[in-house]
Amino acid sequence: MLFSSSKGNCAYIKYGRDEILIDCGASARTIDLALKSIGTSLCKINAVFITHEHSDHIRGLNALSKHINAKFYAPEGCCDYIATYMHNSKRAVGLVSNTPIKLNDLAICPIPTPHDARGSVGFRILAGEERIGYFTDIGHLSEGLLRGLSGCERVVIESNHDIEMLKNGSYPYSLKQRILGATGHLSNETCAKLLPHLANHGSRSFMLAHLSEENNTPEIAYNECLCALTEAGFKVNAEGGIGLKVAPVCEIAELI
Ligand SMILES: [Zn+2]
Ligand SMILES: [Zn+2]
Repeated sequence: MLFSSSKGNCAYIKYGRDEILIDCGASARTIDLALKSIGTSLCKINAVFITHEHSDHIRGLNALSKHINAKFYAPEGCCDYIATYMHNSKRAVGLVSNTPIKLNDLAICPIPTPHDARGSVGFRILAGEERIGYFTDIGHLSEGLLRGLSGCERVVIESNHDIEMLKNGSYPYSLKQRILGATGHLSNETCAKLLPHLANHGSRSFMLAHLSEENNTPEIAYNECLCALTEAGFKVNAEGGIGLKVAPVCEIAELI
């Protein structure tokens, strides 16, 4: 995860001959700097996968589409919309739900997610023998989403807000209702309940992502999941145990 929060999201996966991005919710320069800090750069990226069209996921799309010669895959429902932001709209490719895109060595399968966008997906990714689940911006745990996550050794999952912080916070009532609704965002509480279930079905590491900068803290999200896993009998961040981390936020101020 290069960075993730309710303000900007971008993930990088390298496997075999493939180097891909999931979402581009910051400027191309910011994403390039983040890639350079881990020894790669934008010019190596051979595909970009977009979960949905909200700005914290596509902020860098226009500049990125000028800088890299790759296809941009997006859910069918929002692909045409996303194409209007791109330098060369012909490189926008619509994803068909539950139908994997096979690159050189990675296979990326889009799974529909319950979220209030024109089209919204998470990804189940096959990297050799290993499966990676990538799911943020999810209002509730739909059956399809749970199937997509089941058996994924590595999981990136939303842990957006602490319900009490959100309810008592400064957001307008309508926005609170949107976030809490069935097509809004996943709470720490629901995320924490899910993790032991996933660990019982083969998941070995969890990255908590898309934390709200207003209605959550990394400590609260981490501790809620830690408690749930420990109570279910799992060792966490110990040898042979389950890995648990919180995704970094974008430390560069320049998100736009
Ligand atoms: Zn969203
Ligand atoms: Zn988002």
